[in-house]
Amino acid sequence: MSAALIEDAKHILEKLVAFPTISHESNLAMVDYMADFLRQLGARVFLQHNEDGRKANLFATLGPQKDGGVVLSGHSDVVPVEGQDWSSDPFMMLESNGRLYGRGTCDMKGFLACCLATAREAAELNLERPLHFAFTYDEEVGCFGAQALMRELARRNIKPAAALIGEPTMMQVIEGHKGCYEYTTNFVGLEGHGSGPDLGVNAIQYAARFITHLMDLGEELKDRAMAGSRFDPPWATIQVGRISGGAGRNIIAGHCSVEWEMRPVQPSDGAFVKESLETFIRQQLLPSMKAVSPAAGIETIIVGEVEGLQVVAQSEARDIAFEITGANGADVVAFGTEAGLFQEAGISAIICGPGSIEQAHKPNEFVDIDQLRSCLKMLARLQSKLI
Ligand SMILES: [Zn+2]
Repeated sequence: MSAALIEDAKHILEKLVAFPTISHESNLAMVDYMADFLRQLGARVFLQHNEDGRKANLFATLGPQKDGGVVLSGHSDVVPVEGQDWSSDPFMMLESNGRLYGRGTCDMKGFLACCLATAREAAELNLERPLHFAFTYDEEVGCFGAQALMRELARRNIKPAAALIGEPTMMQVIEGHKGCYEYTTNFVGLEGHGSGPDLGVNAIQYAARFITHLMDLGEELKDRAMAGSRFDPPWATIQVGRISGGAGRNIIAGHCSVEWEMRPVQPSDGAFVKESLETFIRQQLLPSMKAVSPAAGIETIIVGEVEGLQVVAQSEARDIAFEITGANGADVVAFGTEAGLFQEAGISAIICGPGSIEQAHKPNEFVDIDQLRSCLKMLARLQSKLI
């Protein structure tokens, strides 16, 4: 690999890190930069904006306009830096001891930079099959960008054969991960004076019973673990991450909301939990709430239900990944990615990217320059397969 290529990737990464694309902020400045970059290379580019127009997905294609080919996919957003103790400006890339420091260097702008540097070389080739780029928004908060992009690809009749998602795996080939379902369950009770608890409906106390049921389900899920599961832990998990409600010690709580998540190993885990919750709410909680106040109720909002990446016997993406990395085995991981959404859309998907998940989301996030080198080598082999 030429020294110029790694220097180009580093230079691009420095630019990408300087865009503070934290999930709740706009990513448009960075998307415009990447779109201009790819357009100048002759790529066909389209942007897909979200509802309020502050964020966009970028999809670009080099090579012929036909079915097949490979998508290189990554998210444009990064997690916040508030409350983290950084020893340098997180949005100014810093090179030290063979590492590049900065928010997103590892998760996952390092991969995006490698994609753009590779695009510059691929544009010079006569590609027989298309090389696509999918850069999404809002991955860190529920994969909303990728979900919208899958609908748009179907609408435009764009049918890549395989997708390579460059989340940080230390360049290991990853063929499976759990899903990630996120929910907020809101409890509406009836406020009243603390001295007469039976005259009101205490939303916090019903939320507590709901949480206890969730914890029981978490135990039951352990028994549902599939034999030979390679996941750690091997079963689907449930976790309550935030609770808020009530007005004060001597007031019966009128509202409570519970933010919780589930990581299903298989879609049937999700169905099992949802059915059990629905029955519990209908038979146990609602009757006693409504006996005091007919207006009382419980509502669960689906924040996002991102399917896991299922390990499949035949996988074009895995075959390609083995060929271009030289790996002969694939693993599974506990963290979620957009790969499951590609698979659900009928596009064979695999995960392999530079940097370690250990550094993701942490202060002083970094990627080893050697990891970027390995990634560029892999992408060079990929483009030579598309000639
Ligand atoms: Zn990521």
